[in-house]
Formats: sequence, C-alpha cells, structure tokens
Amino acid sequence: TSDTRLYQPNAKSPLQIFVRAKKKINDIYGEIEEYVLETTTFINALHAEAEIVDKAERELFESYVYKVAAIREVLQRDHMKVAFFGRTSNGKSSVINAMLREKILPSGIGHTTNCFCQVEGNDGGEAYLMTEGSAEKLNVVNIKQLANALCQEKLCESSLVRIFWPRERCRLLRDDVVFVDSPGVDVSANLDDWIDNHCLNADVFVLVLNAESTMTRAEKQFFHTVSQKLSKPNIFILNNRWDASASEPECQESVKSQHTERCIDFLTKELKVSNEKEAGERVFFVSARETLQARIEEAKGNPPHMGALAEGFQIRYFEFQDFERKFEECISQSAVKTKFQQHSSRGKSVSGDMRSMLDNIYERITIFRNLKQDQKTLLTDRIQGTETQMMQVTRDMKLKIHTMVEEVEEKVSKALNE
Ligand code: GDP
Repeated sequence: TSDTRLYQPNAKSPLQIFVRAKKKINDIYGEIEEYVLETTTFINALHAEAEIVDKAERELFESYVYKVAAIREVLQRDHMKVAFFGRTSNGKSSVINAMLREKILPSGIGHTTNCFCQVEGNDGGEAYLMTEGSAEKLNVVNIKQLANALCQEKLCESSLVRIFWPRERCRLLRDDVVFVDSPGVDVSANLDDWIDNHCLNADVFVLVLNAESTMTRAEKQFFHTVSQKLSKPNIFILNNRWDASASEPECQESVKSQHTERCIDFLTKELKVSNEKEAGERVFFVSARETLQARIEEAKGNPPHMGALAEGFQIRYFEFQDFERKFEECISQSAVKTKFQQHSSRGKSVSGDMRSMLDNIYERITIFRNLKQDQKTLLTDRIQGTETQMMQVTRDMKLKIHTMVEEVEEKVSKALNE
C-alpha cells in the first residue's frame, strides 16, 4: 500500500513560510513603530525648544506614525486566501470540509451554497457567523444550525457570509488560510461582480470538477474572466468524485488521461497561466467525500480506511494529500509575495524618507551647534580678559594687604620691644 508515502499532518508544513514571514515582518514593523514614536517625541522637543524643526516638518513626521500604524494593522490581518469554484454539487463544500478535517460547511442536497461562504480562524474558542453588513455574531453550535442559519438568511448570491471557526481545531486555519466557497458558476450571471468582490485578493483558485463529466462552458468562462482580471492566477484543478470510477476499472485509465490532457490544455493553451510542467502538477483526481470520511475516522483514532470505501481509496487519499502539499507550497509563496512585498517596499520608502529628514535635521543641528560654539568662544574671550584684569586687581590688593600686615607687624613688635 502507499501508507508509507502518506503525508504526515504534523510534518513541517510549507505554510510555515508564510507564518514565519508574517511574524518577521510584523516584528520589524513593531520596531519601526517604536523608533518612529521615539523620534517623534524627540522632533517635537526640538520644535518646542530650539525651533530647528518647523511645524510642517513636525506634522510630516507625525504622519509617519499613522502610516506605520495603518500598515501594522493590515499586516496583522493578512492571510492566505483560497477560493473554490465549479458547478453546483461538484463537491466544493466537501473539498473544503475534507481540508478542514471536519464537516463545517453544509453539503449535499438541499444545502446548495447560494452565497459566498468564507471560513476563517478565530482566536477565541467559539464558532460564529456574520453576514455582510451586520456586526451581529450569530453563534454556531453545530453544522445543522449553520445550515439552517444559511438557509434562513435572505442572501444575495454575491454576498458574503463569514464563518469564524476556532483556530485550534484545524491546522490550516491556525496557519492563517482562509477558505472561500462560492455558489455554482452555473447559477450566476454576475461573474464580474463575483471576481471584483471576492477574487482579486485570492492567492489560489481551485476549480472543482465532476470527474464523471467534462468541464462545462460556464466553468471555463469563469476562469477566462479571472485570468483577464488577474495576471497569472494560481489555479489548481480537482477532478472530484473519482471514487465513482472505481466501479468501471476497465476505462479508468483512459478517462483519466483524457481529463488530464484537457485540464492541462486548458491551463496552458487556453488560459496561458501555467507552463506544461507546472500544469501537470496542478491537476488531481480525488474523492473529497472519502477523504473527509477517512479524516473523521482518523480523528476518532480509527484507521482511515474504516467504513465502506471503494477500491483504490489509498491512491485517491494519497492524491488528495499530494494536492494539499502542492497547494500549501503554492499559496504560502504566492501570499508572501503579494501581501508582504508591497509592505516591505513601503516600509523601506518610509524609513528612507525618515532617514533623509533626520539627516537634514542633524545637519541643521550641527550648524546650529557650531554657531553657538562660536558665540561661546567670543564670550569666553571676553570673560577671560575680565578675569585677567580681576586677577591683577586681586594680586595688587593681596600685595597691598601683605605689605600693610607686615608694616603693622613691624610696628607692633617694635612697640613691644620698646
Ligand atoms: P457543492 O455544491 O459543489 O458545494 O457540492 P457538495 O460538497 O455540497 O457536494 C454535493 C454532493 O456530492 C454531496 O452529497 C456530497 O456528499 C457528494 N460528494 C462530494 N464529493 C464527493 C465525492 O468525491 N464522491 C462522491 N461519490 N460524492 C461526493
């Protein structure tokens, strides 16, 4: 079996690239903030005492404080975002649940996702959801309640429901991955709105296909629009429900190679987002339902193949894990670039501006100090002159007194002798 090749969930995750980079950049900005605050106090003092710094300069420096604070806030909220698309019932919610290792999103008949659902980590131990435009936190105790809440809400298809799930319950949420589930691409006419509202900051897109049929025009069209709006989006393709092929082993291989070829052509020749080699590593044949089931068993301490699973489960399970590994590598690298590159160049330009401003102030201080020094020397010369005079006077006085005392002594001793 392929057991030994299985990806260990606690093995060092590629997501750590992002997690570490985020910590580092946050620490650096923390230091920059401290430095800016300290320098601002110094600049304000200079302004108040010596007027070396004028009002405009002082205000400009204060604006850096706000700038740095604003960047810090964005940095703290930065995450890796993956968005799932495909026709209704291809298994988008099931794929997300399988990755989260828990049935969080409602799936199946009657639970068609009819709006965007975002699952993100929450630091407190509670699970709740929030609908767009409302600050109310609706507590979520279980999946049934979540499904009901989603059904009861009169939601427009391009609106967003945010589900906050305790971070400690899932490694991916803990490492700052945010999942976005979408309504089926077959039900919407507002693809442009969807992309503008939910996709522009996505780091990875996952197209969930039904391996039992071929890619539809709606699915293709959606990704054509995405790749027009975004330069080189990262797209993974999951041919889901591959367990269904187990019942027809005779044509499994030919179906697989046909799907593979079409998917690679789509990524390379149609969308032109990947080269042949990369595209080959972006197409997978999986069963989200089996994976989720296996993981639920594993969480209970049972072997993953518990339950009635179809022939070839291990290979499909391994392929799902392989997808996750490549997905993690891709999303963390892409997110570091898109999220932090911009902040680090802004940080560089802010610190560069501050530096040249401080250099300038320093120069002025040096000139000012030299000027004072000159004045001081002038003053000292004068004082020295006076001192010499004083000393002369004192010396004369001393001499006079001395002579007087000597005279007195002489007179006294003379008188005594007499
Ligand atoms: P969505 O509308 O794309 O989010 O699809 P769902 O995740 O709600 O799945 C639709 C139905 O397909 C549900 O009944 C799932 O249990 C089922 N399903 C999902 N993935 C698989 C799979 O890999 N194999 C099989 N056999 N069924 C699946």
